Amino acid sequence: MDLSRFARRRYTAWATPVEPMPRFSAALAASCPGGRGPEVWVKRDDQLGLFPGGNKTRKLEFLVADALAQGADTLITCGAPQSNHCRITLAAAVKEGLQCRFVIEERVPDSYDVNASGNNFMFRLLGVEAITVVPAGTDMAAAMTRVADELAAVGRKGYVIAGGGSNALGGLGYVACAQELQQQCFDAGLWFDRLVVGSGSSGTHGGLLAGFLGNRIDTPIVGIGVSRDAAEQAPLVHKEAQAVVDLVGAGFSVPREAVHCVGGYWQPKYSLPNAGMVEAVQMLARTEGILLDPVYTGKVMAGLMGLARKGELKAGERVLFLHTGGLPSLHAYERVVLGDAPVAG
Ligand SMILES: *Cc1c(COP(=O)(O)O)cnc(C)c1O
Repeated sequence: MDLSRFARRRYTAWATPVEPMPRFSAALAASCPGGRGPEVWVKRDDQLGLFPGGNKTRKLEFLVADALAQGADTLITCGAPQSNHCRITLAAAVKEGLQCRFVIEERVPDSYDVNASGNNFMFRLLGVEAITVVPAGTDMAAAMTRVADELAAVGRKGYVIAGGGSNALGGLGYVACAQELQQQCFDAGLWFDRLVVGSGSSGTHGGLLAGFLGNRIDTPIVGIGVSRDAAEQAPLVHKEAQAVVDLVGAGFSVPREAVHCVGGYWQPKYSLPNAGMVEAVQMLARTEGILLDPVYTGKVMAGLMGLARKGELKAGERVLFLHTGGLPSLHAYERVVLGDAPVAG
């Protein structure tokens, strides 16, 4: 897939590392059938730029380039109260000399607190221009258009970025990631039997899938849902992957069978902690010194561990976990991840 005709800003000066996790793999194996489990590796997209970066950094390279090409002076986006996407979008805006406004959806009633730590603290530190808080179920696209209209009325120009940066253009960031990974595997003589990634607004999972298919990487991708079970998530991922393929002009149809989604690990609700997440966050911290976040990667790693314990990730299989970042929200859940506060199931 040739991305060279797309304008791109560069926010990371390196390829994110691909590392084995032998101590974590050994600890996980102890709870797998027959005491044997998969060999788990990690791709450190938590080390992307716009520090502390994450998967949104890759999408924003293409989205912000488009905003600049259109002459925008303000980025407008949306998310949940502890949104990594909003924080990284704001960091990109600061770096580019743009203003930034958010529409925050209180998916859990009264969950937005202007004085909360984690990402909320960084919203203020990085100098967000304005935040509009709306209740769950609000039409976010319409709410962002209203912000753009307000700016237009005073002669400014906003650029609206979809939730999670997940549209066809944002998905190109994960086509670029697929290509980066392919080169790394080639250089190191490495291959993976499977890749495990979080699946939310689907730009990451869908963009990667488009990139894997388009670059003939035949490693299957397993997307662990962070807010939906497979029946609801798979169509979103399929749609995103196809939109990315079409934007690149690669001219193929994404087979529905290529979309693997796994549910059951995000409950009771998006962003609310569960016991599997706490176990995963503690285990990775204490075996590899790598921090996961409570909303996304903690639940995704709990899913990887669950699949290994069920024997669905097989003994000796080499699995790559894509770490999508999210570190700051850990600070908004400190008691919970230390095990000092009760959680669901
Ligand atoms: C947004 C986010 C995800 C989910 O990625 P999508 O592209 O929205 O599916 C996963 N992990 C972290 C840390 C995120 O911030």
